[in-house]
Amino acid sequence: MKHPKFIFVIGGVMSSVGKGITSSSIGTILQSRGYRITNVKCDMYVNIDAGTIRPTEHGEVFIGTDGIEADQDLGNYERFTGRTMTALNYITTGQVYQEVIRKERNLEYNGEDVEVVPDVPHEIIRRIQLAQKKNKAEITIVEFGGTIGEYQVLLFLEAARIMKVHNPDDVAFVLVSYLPLPSHIGEMKTKPTQYAVRTLNAAGIMADFIVARAERSLDQRRREILAMVCNLRPGTVLAAPDQSSIYDVPLLFHEQKLDEMLLRTLGLRPRKNDLRIWKNFSRKVRRCKKTVNIGVVGKYFGTGDFTLADSYISVIEAAKHAAWAHDAKPNLTWIDSAEYEKDPKKVRELSRYDGIIVPGGFGSRGIEGVLRAIQYVRENGIPYLGLCYGMQLATIEFAKNVAKIANANSVEIDANTSDPVICVNPKQQKNILEKQMGATMRLGSYPCTVQKKSLAYRAYKQGKISERHRHRYEFNNQYREALERAGMRFSGINEKDNLVEIVELANHPWFVGTQFHPEFQSHPLTPHPLFKDFIGAAIKRQKT
Ligand code: GLN
Repeated sequence: MKHPKFIFVIGGVMSSVGKGITSSSIGTILQSRGYRITNVKCDMYVNIDAGTIRPTEHGEVFIGTDGIEADQDLGNYERFTGRTMTALNYITTGQVYQEVIRKERNLEYNGEDVEVVPDVPHEIIRRIQLAQKKNKAEITIVEFGGTIGEYQVLLFLEAARIMKVHNPDDVAFVLVSYLPLPSHIGEMKTKPTQYAVRTLNAAGIMADFIVARAERSLDQRRREILAMVCNLRPGTVLAAPDQSSIYDVPLLFHEQKLDEMLLRTLGLRPRKNDLRIWKNFSRKVRRCKKTVNIGVVGKYFGTGDFTLADSYISVIEAAKHAAWAHDAKPNLTWIDSAEYEKDPKKVRELSRYDGIIVPGGFGSRGIEGVLRAIQYVRENGIPYLGLCYGMQLATIEFAKNVAKIANANSVEIDANTSDPVICVNPKQQKNILEKQMGATMRLGSYPCTVQKKSLAYRAYKQGKISERHRHRYEFNNQYREALERAGMRFSGINEKDNLVEIVELANHPWFVGTQFHPEFQSHPLTPHPLFKDFIGAAIKRQKT
C-alpha cells in the first residue's frame, strides 16, 4: 500500500464520553465506503495489558482471538466493524517502554543514548504502523485513551504529530469533546472544548474535526462559535447528541457527511456508500415492542459507584443483539448475590425473570448467594446461561445438590476441598505458586466440538466451533461420569486437551453453561447463537 492513512481520535474535556463509539462508528462508515480499515487503541497505562487491571474501575477486559487481554473498546470495534482484534490492535505505555528497554539492553540503538523523545514516540509509531501493515488497512483509526492535557498522553500526541509532519496528507485528527449543559444555566457551554483545542494546539496538533458530544444536539450558533475559535469550517464540527442505540451513531455521522469529509481530507475518493444494513437494523431495533426481563446475578454489583455497564459491556451488548433478533427489548436487572446470603428466601424473586445470566468472575466473595440462585433457577425451570464462572458454579451446584457430592467446590474458592469439581492443572498451579499472573490464564480462541442432540448444537447448528477463553480453572474430568449419571450433559469438548467447554441439563427447558465467553463474539447484525436461543427460551417462558 503506497499511502496508508491514519485517523487519530483524541478526547477533550473529560473521558468516557464516547471516543470508543466514535472510533468504531468512523470505522463503520469508512468501511461502508469500501475501504479496508482497522482500529487501534492506545492505553496510557504502564500495565502491559488490561489483564491485571480491576474491571470494576477500568471496565471489562476484552479478549482477542490470540488471547490479548485488552481494553473494552476493542469489543466495540469488533461489534461495529466485524473485524477481529488481536494484540496488534492494542498498545499500552507499558508495551512501548518494555520494547524500548529491551532494544537498549540488546544494543539495538548502536551505542546512541536512548531518549524519552524521540525514542518512545518512535516506538509508538512503529507499533501503529505494524498494526496497519499486518491488517493491510487502507485507513487505520487510532484512539488515544484518556483526555488531552493528561501528562501520560503527551508522548502519544508527539508520535501522532511526527506522523503528520512526515505525511501531512495521510493523517487526520478528530477531537471528541464534551459540551456540558449545566441545569442552572440551561444552555450548552462550548468553552471547555475551546480550551481542549488550545491544549491540543500546544502539542502541535490541529484538529480537523470536532465531535461535539452532549445530551442534546449542537445548534448552529454554537457550531459556528466552535468552528471560528478552533480554526475549522462549521461543517467539520459535528453534533453527537446521546442516542437511544449506540448502533445509530454511524448513521448520525453519515448524515453529517463525516465519511465523505474524512476521505477528502485524506485525499481519498469517496466511493459510493452502502449503509443499508445499518439503516434496516436501526429501524428494526426501533420497532421492537415487547420486553424480555433478564436477571444478571453476580457478586460485585453492590460495591462503590462504578458502572456495571462497563464491567460487563460485552454481556450487555450480546443480550441486546439477541433480544433484538427476537423483536424484543432486553431489560437487564443486576442482582447482588450477597442478598441471597443474607436472606436465602429472597431467591424466590428470581421467578419474576424470564431468564437468568451468571457472568464471569473471580474469587470467593458472594459465591454462596450465586449457588443459591443457580439452584433456584435449575429447580424452577428458569432459562439459564452461565458464562465461564457461571458454568463452573453451575457444575458445583449440580454436583452438590443433585449428584450429592457434598464438598463439591472449585479450588479457587477452597484450595483444600476434598471434591475439586473445578480444579487447576499443574501448569496453572505453577503459575499461581510463582505468582506469574500476567497473561497466563487460558486465553483466546480454542476449538470446541459440539455434541449432536444438544441445546448447544441446536443453537450453533454445527459441530465445530471456536470461542474465546479467559480463565485459570477447569472442570475436573474425574467427576464427569458421576455428574453425567445425575443428568448433566457435557455437550462441548475441547478434544485436543480433553477439556469440558459446555455443560447443559437434560431435564430443564434451557440450561447452558460455557467455559468460554460467547459474549465476545456477538455482533449486532449476527447475534451469538447461544444468546439468541437463551433469549428465545426466555420469551417462551414469558408466554407460558
Ligand atoms: N475464576 C474462574 C477461573 O479463573 C472463571 C473466570 C471467568 O469467569 N472469566 O477459572
